[in-house]
Amino acid sequence: MSIAPAPEHADQPRFVRPPPPALRHDCALFLDIDGTLAELASVPEAVRVDQELVRSLPRIMRDLGGALALVTGRAITSADRLFPGLTLPMAGQHGCERRDAAGSIHLHAPHRKTQARLRKLLRRLARRHPQLLLEDKGAALALHYRAIPDLAPQLYRAVRRSLREDDGYSLQPGKLLIEVKPHEFDKGTAINDFMAETPFAGRLPVFIGDDLTDEDGFASVERLGGWTVKVGGGRTRAQYRLPDVGAVIRWLLAPIHDAPARGSATSVTTLPRS
Ligand SMILES: [Mg+2]
Repeated sequence: MSIAPAPEHADQPRFVRPPPPALRHDCALFLDIDGTLAELASVPEAVRVDQELVRSLPRIMRDLGGALALVTGRAITSADRLFPGLTLPMAGQHGCERRDAAGSIHLHAPHRKTQARLRKLLRRLARRHPQLLLEDKGAALALHYRAIPDLAPQLYRAVRRSLREDDGYSLQPGKLLIEVKPHEFDKGTAINDFMAETPFAGRLPVFIGDDLTDEDGFASVERLGGWTVKVGGGRTRAQYRLPDVGAVIRWLLAPIHDAPARGSATSVTTLPRS
């Protein structure tokens, strides 16, 4: 007697996602940093990236025809310190600044008046609660409350009260941080900009990220027919999931596969959105 196998994932929670397929030579790879390539730390300056990965990134980039970019909430100057000796294409501050593959910097000017008002508010909160860490990135401003997580509802209320419809700024929640940033730019707009340029254009976009801000990037990559990979638990619109930073690094260091021959069918599993 033969027993029919159960439908794939039928007995698993809706948020389960399969791991991504192996990286291919025709991919354009977009990588978040904190929580994706590196474990989170008590302060952003304490974050370290695995040295084998740093040494391997130029080789991975060559194998992808140069189509590799970092897409981070950090300012580019802060992220560069994590990759000594490398000048990688990068979108910083959730897309408010971008260094393209030719090394040119694209800066999106913040709304000065709004920014000044929000900076004042966040500074006041940081003075009142010394365990808070204010990170002034230039266009975006982040308040880290890792040392005092119970304060989160109060911080969200204060920032929401201060934001107005026509501010041009929006609230960006993150892991143990609350951030304000110009709303017309996000990780998705940054990926779109890269995908319109050499050497990214015409490739299969792949984006890996762990936090809420990465969902904008997932939406763009989804529209472009690429692969989206969520790191760790939590709700997501991504197709695939890797459990942690270690799994991301192992996936990146694995052999890169050839692109399928033109006309051959590819099988990509898409599970229901949670
Ligand atoms: Mg992250």
